[in-house]
Amino acid sequence: MRIEVFEGDITALDVDAIVNAANPALAGGGGVDGAIHRAAGPGLSEECSVIAMVSPHVRCPTGEARITGGHRLKARHIIHTVGPVWHGGRDGEPERLAECYRNSLRLAVDHGVASIAFPAISCGVYGYPPEKAVSTAVAEVRAWGDVHDAPAQVIFACFGESMAALYRQALR
Ligand code: ADP
Repeated sequence: MRIEVFEGDITALDVDAIVNAANPALAGGGGVDGAIHRAAGPGLSEECSVIAMVSPHVRCPTGEARITGGHRLKARHIIHTVGPVWHGGRDGEPERLAECYRNSLRLAVDHGVASIAFPAISCGVYGYPPEKAVSTAVAEVRAWGDVHDAPAQVIFACFGESMAALYRQALR
């Protein structure tokens, strides 16, 4: 498994799958979710809207993942996962975030994805401390690659030099 850091817009990446930091309704929103929905076009919302609800307004519970087509993106697939909202770290946030990475990788492998890009899940409006989130992201991706089939290429896509530096440091 080759792990790389990319600084810039995840929607521009030519990979088999990009991961979306979605909300439970898979309704689109701000941040990376909004950028992905804008770049993918209206077909993405249409596809999300037919994914079954597991409880009122919830198509994807926190920590789980769902897959759709990439629509107008170069990526063939979009894997939507819902990160935890940071409430101080004693509300199961680290385990939920770890599940996001594991469940996304499982879906990716099931769909024959050879290259995948992750955004910094939960590090925007969900308020997860970036250093802690990055360390979980790197640890989970590596641990997955140690024991499961895995995409040959994993990219951590991030906005801003400070976030990129955190990934580079964690990967060292
Ligand atoms: P969450 O709700 O999970 O916190 P956000 O979208 O608010 O998700 O933020 C997650 C991370 O994605 C943040 O670090 C933010 O800077 C970054 N981000 C926002 N837009 C993009 C994009 N187009 N490409 C890559 N990363 C992005």
